[in-house]
Amino acid sequence: MTGTVICDLDGVVYRGDVGIPGAGEALRRLEDDGWRILFCTNNSTRTKQAVARRIGELSGYPATAGQVVGSAEAASTLLAPERPPTYVLGGDGIREALATAGIPEVPDATRAGAVVVGLATDCDYPMLAAAAGAVRRGARLVATNTDPTYPAADGLRPGAGAIVAAVETAAERRAEVAGKPYEPIRRLLRERVGDGAVWVVGDREDTDLELARAEGWKAALVLTGATTSADELTAEADLVLDSLADLPAHIG
Ligand SMILES: [Mg+2]
Repeated sequence: MTGTVICDLDGVVYRGDVGIPGAGEALRRLEDDGWRILFCTNNSTRTKQAVARRIGELSGYPATAGQVVGSAEAASTLLAPERPPTYVLGGDGIREALATAGIPEVPDATRAGAVVVGLATDCDYPMLAAAAGAVRRGARLVATNTDPTYPAADGLRPGAGAIVAAVETAAERRAEVAGKPYEPIRRLLRERVGDGAVWVVGDREDTDLELARAEGWKAALVLTGATTSADELTAEADLVLDSLADLPAHIG
């Protein structure tokens, strides 16, 4: 029996700008075997088209934007009913998601009815001050995700969670979180999975494994990203694999 494979990206398909060996071949084989492939990322820095292109360039698997489900899109669903003017502390993925949902972005935080915070590699003190100030004045605070780190080629770097924590601390208010493992992105995924089994493949226990656990889906943890040794695991994964390349042999 086949079904849907929900594949994380950073630390699974690639790490920084380097593809994980065998990842693209594994995705092709799974698809040839009848599995529907979705990509689910908490990284909100890129547009869906840019994410799909990056998967293709780094793995060789011809991903499409339609296969990508991201924390930016999940964040936009929280604001879509009211469409408040929104200040963005984050990247192009958030801007694209807001525009798609018809939510106006405002560069002037004093006019913001909401603040969306994600991974912002250009984050500086004035941006933190603007975001926190808006929240103090009553703006809604939405975080794309709270991953403390993300895996780059040279090691773990501060993730969106580190920036969200700075805004939360300065504003003295907790954020609503949209990405893995929280409900907004799970709702998007539930709408996309087909019949049959659902496997979540990821490199983080607190996001990927927790997402699978919350939905009753199967979880495969790979050791090519944030988790590098099975000894670090505290939760139960259905499979622990050296890399995505090993998945077809186990669920085929
Ligand atoms: Mg990851």
